Amino acid sequence: MNAKRHDYPDTMIPCFRCGKPLKDWSAGNNQPFDALEFSSYGHYPSSLFDPGDASELVVNLCDDCIRAGATQGRVLRRTWPEGRPRGAMPSYEPWRPK
Ligand SMILES: [Zn+2]
Repeated sequence: MNAKRHDYPDTMIPCFRCGKPLKDWSAGNNQPFDALEFSSYGHYPSSLFDPGDASELVVNLCDDCIRAGATQGRVLRRTWPEGRPRGAMPSYEPWRPK
């Protein structure tokens, strides 16, 4: 079967920024076409979400919104040291799409 993109169901949530509906390649596991899923376990000192359990918040951002934000310097690329040794800290740098 060669399913076309429009044959896939919508993701449970649209793009967080623009509200554009997204198609879910995985049909239920939130793997949107032309978009990325972002998640957070929360952290201190957030006053909004820091449950300390196994739950996460999830948002989708479409590629157009990511590209627009990155072009305006609002996206960081985080890189961990090879092998991610214990206690290692990541580096951050502005990320811009090619
Ligand atoms: Zn969007």
